[in-house]
Amino acid sequence: MDRTFFACKQEVFNRGVSPDAFLNELIDWAVNAHSEIFERNNRIDIYSRIVTELGPWESFIHRKAAMLEALRVLGGFESSWDWEAGKDTTNPDSNTPSTEEAGIFQCSANSMNFDDSLSDLLLKETGRTDSETFITTTKSNHPFAIEYCARLIRFTVNHHGPIKHKHINPWLRRDAMLEFMGFLERESKSDESRWPHQDEVDSFYGNPRGLDGEPNAEWEKDNIVKVKPPWQLVTAWDFQPVSGIRIHRECAESLKKILEQIWVSSGHDESRIREWGMHLYAGGYNYRLMRGGTRLSMHSWGCAVDFDSARNAFGDHSPNFGSIPSVLDAFADEGWTWGGDWRTPDGMHWQAATV
Ligand SMILES: [Zn+2]
Repeated sequence: MDRTFFACKQEVFNRGVSPDAFLNELIDWAVNAHSEIFERNNRIDIYSRIVTELGPWESFIHRKAAMLEALRVLGGFESSWDWEAGKDTTNPDSNTPSTEEAGIFQCSANSMNFDDSLSDLLLKETGRTDSETFITTTKSNHPFAIEYCARLIRFTVNHHGPIKHKHINPWLRRDAMLEFMGFLERESKSDESRWPHQDEVDSFYGNPRGLDGEPNAEWEKDNIVKVKPPWQLVTAWDFQPVSGIRIHRECAESLKKILEQIWVSSGHDESRIREWGMHLYAGGYNYRLMRGGTRLSMHSWGCAVDFDSARNAFGDHSPNFGSIPSVLDAFADEGWTWGGDWRTPDGMHWQAATV
C-alpha cells in the first residue's frame, strides 16, 4: 500500500519524527485488528487519558485512529521508534526478565499479569508465556508488539510513564489522527470488497462441479479445509459433536478470525456461546442446489456457513441472530454477507461472497 504522510510526520518531544515504515506497520496492523481492541469499556484506559486532545469519540474508526496516534507518540517517547530497544539479555544476572522493558513501546513481561488476554496473545503466537519469549517476540514480531501494547493500555494507564504522567498529551495531534483515519477508511473499504460477487464465485473459488450433478472430488480435496472453533461445536439437528467446519481455504483464515472474535466477545464463556446459538453447526461446505432453485447454493463452493437453524429459520423475518451484535459484527468486520437482511431472510446463513 502506497501511503504518503504529512501530519503524522510532526515532531514528538525531542525524539524527532517517526519513520514511514513504523507508520505503515501501524496502519497495516489496524486495518485487520480485532474490533474489541478499540471498543468502549468501563476502565480508566488510554481513551480516558487522551479524550481531551483527540475526543470526544464519534465513531469506531475515530477510536481506532486515536489509538494509532497514541501509539505514534508513545513509540517516540519510549524508544525513538526502535523496535529492538531494550536491555542486553546476554547477562541474565543483571536483569529480571519479567521486569525488563523491551521493544518499541517498552512493555515488560510482567505486564501480562494485567489480564489473561495478554498472556494468551503471546501463547497464541509462540506457544509459550515465559518472560524471555515475551522479550524476543516483542522485539522481532512487529504486529505482536503493536497489538500487545494496544491491548495493555486498554487495561491500565500506569504501565507507561509517558501515559501515566500525561507526557504524551502535548504531542498528540488531531490532524495526524485524521490522517490515520483517512487511510483506515480508504483501506477498510477495499477490505470489504475482498470477496467476489456471488455470480463470480467460480473465478474466485474455482469450479466445484463434477460429472452428472456430482461434486468434483479433486476440487474438494484441493480446496476444502477444516476450521475448528475455540468451543465445542455440535450438529444443530441432533447435537452430535462436530470436529470442525469444512470451508474453502480462501476464506478459512477469515472464518477463523471471526470465530476467535466471537470467542473473545463472549468473554471466553461457552455458556454465552450456547446462549447465542453459535455452538449449533448447521452447515459449511455442502454441494447442493439453492433452496427451491436450480442454481448451486453458496455452500457448494465452501464459502458459506449456517448456525442455529431452529431459531434462525429460512424465511423468518426476525431471526435470533438479529439481536446478537457480537456475532453480526464479527462476520461484518470480515466482510461476510448475512442472509438475515435478505428479502426472504436466511438468518442462519453467512457467506464470503457479496450479493
Ligand atoms: Zn446457508
